[in-house]
Parts: sequence; structure tokens; C-alpha cells
Amino acid sequence: MLRTTIAGSLPKPLWLAEPEKLWAPWKLEGEALEQGKRDATILAVKLQEDAGIDIVGDGEQARVHFVHGFLANLDGIDFAKKTMMGIRNNRYMAEVPTVVGPIRRKGSVHGMEARAARAHTRHQLKFTLPGPMTIVDTIADEHYGRRADLAMAFAEALNEEAKELEAIGVDVVQFDEPAYNVYMAEVADWGIATLERAAQGLTCTTAVHICYGYGIKANIDWKNTLGESWRHYEDTFPVLAASSIDQISLECRNSRVPMDLIRLLKGKDVLVGAIDVASDHIESPEEVAATIRAALAFVDAEKLFPCTNCGMAPMSQTVAYGKLAALAAGAALVRQELGS
Ligand code: ZN
Repeated sequence: MLRTTIAGSLPKPLWLAEPEKLWAPWKLEGEALEQGKRDATILAVKLQEDAGIDIVGDGEQARVHFVHGFLANLDGIDFAKKTMMGIRNNRYMAEVPTVVGPIRRKGSVHGMEARAARAHTRHQLKFTLPGPMTIVDTIADEHYGRRADLAMAFAEALNEEAKELEAIGVDVVQFDEPAYNVYMAEVADWGIATLERAAQGLTCTTAVHICYGYGIKANIDWKNTLGESWRHYEDTFPVLAASSIDQISLECRNSRVPMDLIRLLKGKDVLVGAIDVASDHIESPEEVAATIRAALAFVDAEKLFPCTNCGMAPMSQTVAYGKLAALAAGAALVRQELGS
């Protein structure tokens, strides 16, 4: 019980990409870059093991960004045609590629790093993909016209990729949907349907990570406008609880999400974020344990997976892996209390 895991990204080594930066450019190219991505993936898996993490991830070492990494091997996208677009309902602006034709997966996107990670750990392995709604919110569209249609096209491509990951031996496929906290009505309208399409036919564990975003300034400023109690999940949790997705990942440490909303996820595994990714303070095991104990009031220990609030890509390696060690130590404290 209380098996620990991570939400997704981890910092990349200094020799691979510029540190402490989102969208950091690669420092290598060609064959050296491919080798570097592979080595960094194996290193990330090993460092998670050493930190005491039970269900390890690839750390998203082989992609520049959690969304655009997946788009790299799809037909229908013009990467040279950059469109300046407001993202997450204009929370921040970004230059994004443009959809100019039917979306089709040309071949494997993440097979290389999934195989590398699988070959070098005996732990359960988790792999993250962007969710359909979040992709749609991070790309310009000149072909489909309706966001729901574009999302379904991406869901089909994601499903092909997810099935390949499962065949490689990935135990958990997680879709990241930070956009779920922004377009509440669309989640029920077409968000869940496209998410379920992306996960269709998978026999491995499926997860969705919904969150209030990385600890970057635009997100922190936005969070400051949300008031004392973040109740977005009150709308999304019941819909997610009724979905076919097995696990829900959310942020609990230093967030203003009322913990009792977890009740609305009855029947699901809950990945409880017990590590703040917007602060360089390394939590003490006792602080981690306190978050887990608070969540235990609303979810059984067998269904609670201590986790990070969100990805850790923009942090320093020392801070990120320090926090993962604290996560494991905090979970061990509570396990001991529960007599296991
Ligand atoms: Zn997140």
C-alpha cells in the first residue's frame, strides 16, 4: 500500500539540455542527441529507484515539452507554421505549430525511451502522454474547425502510441490533462469521451493527471486569482469517477484544493500530490506524511499512491531528487503507522 510514483517530468542532465527551464533547447544533435536521450532516461529511472520511488517513470527525458514531444512523429502538423496563441484560456502566450491536414501517427513516437526504461528497471513503469484536450489547447488548427473533432483525431493517434507502450511492457499509461481545470463544460461535453478513446482497449493501468500547472510564474499568478478554495474538481471528479480511467492524479501539497473533494473519486486509485513543485523547499518526510494522512480520511490506503503535485522539469536535479527521497520517506512513515 501507499506505493509512491511521480506525476511525469524530471529535470534533464546538464549535458542534455539547459537546466531549470521549460522548453529548454537540446545541447546535442544527431546521433549524439538520440544516445543522450536514451542515457538520460536510464539515469532518471535509476535515480528514482535510488530515491525510493516504487512506480518509476521515464521522466520525459527524451522530449522538449510534454505536449510537443508527442506531436513530433505525426502527419498533419506544420511545425514551421508557427502561430502565436493564448494557451489555457489566454493564461499565457506561446508560439505553437499548426494543424494543416488529417492527424496520423507516422510511427513510434516514444518507443525508444520506453524500451530503454523497461530494459533497466524491475520496478513498475509508468509512461506519460499528453491528453487530447490539452494537445488541442496547445496547437493551432487550420483543418478540423471543431476542437472536439481535432481532439478525437489526436485521441486515435494517442491510442496507437499507448498500445505500443503497453506492448513494450509499460505498466501504467498516464494522460496529462491540465486543460481540464480550464474548460470545465467541455470536459463533460467531449473531454472524457476523447480521453476514453485514447485509452480504449488498453489492459495496463490507465491514469489521468489533472492539475493547476507547472510552478511557472504565469501559473502561480493565475492560482493567486482563484481564491481560498479551488473547487474546479467538484465538477470534473464525478465525471472522471464515472469514466473508465483507473487512476486520477491531483495536487494536494500547498494547493487550495479542498481535500474532501477526493470523496467524489470513489472507486478510483488516487495519486495524491504530496510534493510542491512550485517551491524549492525540500519537504521533510513528516510534511509528506501529513499530506498522506489528511488524504487517508477520504481514500483507502490500497487506493492511495503518494505522488508529486506535477512535473518537475523546471527544477534543479538536486531539489527534484531530494523531494523524491522525501516522498518515499514520508510514505514509509505512514506505512509504518498503518502496520505494514
Ligand atoms: Zn501537472
